Amino acid sequence: MSISENLEAFYTDLKPTNARLVAVSKTKPIELIKEAYDFGHRAFGENKVQELVDKQQVLPDDIEWHMIGHLQRNKVKYIAPFVSLIHGVDTFKLLKEINKQGEKHGRVISCLLQIHIAQEEAKFGFDVDQVQEMLSSEEFKELSNIKIIGLMGMATNTADQEQVRSEFASLKQLIDRLTSTFSELELSEISMGMSGDYKIALEEGSTLIRVGSAIFGARNTQL
Ligand SMILES: *Cc1c(COP(=O)(O)O)cnc(C)c1O
Repeated sequence: MSISENLEAFYTDLKPTNARLVAVSKTKPIELIKEAYDFGHRAFGENKVQELVDKQQVLPDDIEWHMIGHLQRNKVKYIAPFVSLIHGVDTFKLLKEINKQGEKHGRVISCLLQIHIAQEEAKFGFDVDQVQEMLSSEEFKELSNIKIIGLMGMATNTADQEQVRSEFASLKQLIDRLTSTFSELELSEISMGMSGDYKIALEEGSTLIRVGSAIFGARNTQL
């Protein structure tokens, strides 16, 4: 199947939902992104700052770039001028740096808080307690160049579909809980679901699925 045919199939799947597709183009060449762009797709996700910046520079300006990977604080400055949504905010320190860079560029940068929902050991992501503590703090309320618009999570990489489902469901429950506790926040986005588990994620309330290989084909390298 071609990229256009793959996208067409995803659009059909997404039609009855209120979710959108972030096409994950990491490791894929410009020509393939162009193909998706020419089909009419505009939201692309990358997980490495350098690659994101390189691609942004040569591709059309109306692309919506999503930073989906782990983001180091010292690299925020490179994407701050243009990034559309940062999915993987996993520490307060990182959020403060994004705010600082947003201020420098006169932007309010949209962010998702990455929550550790998987049972397996994960290097990144907030625990529930940490998120509540941060959102309650005065320091957080002073950040005016970031906007938290939702949560992001990655399920355990397992064949056990019920486990994946319950991890996604826990993210949905958390967003509902945070919405009622912190009524000033407008948390409308839940970024969950990849090529292998997006169907379950949609059933559990995902609003942004991040799909790479099911659109662009398998990647050569494990990135
Ligand atoms: C690579 C990646 C994806 C997409 O993975 P596929 O299995 O190719 O769909 C989604 N989210 C993140 C954070 C990724 O790094």
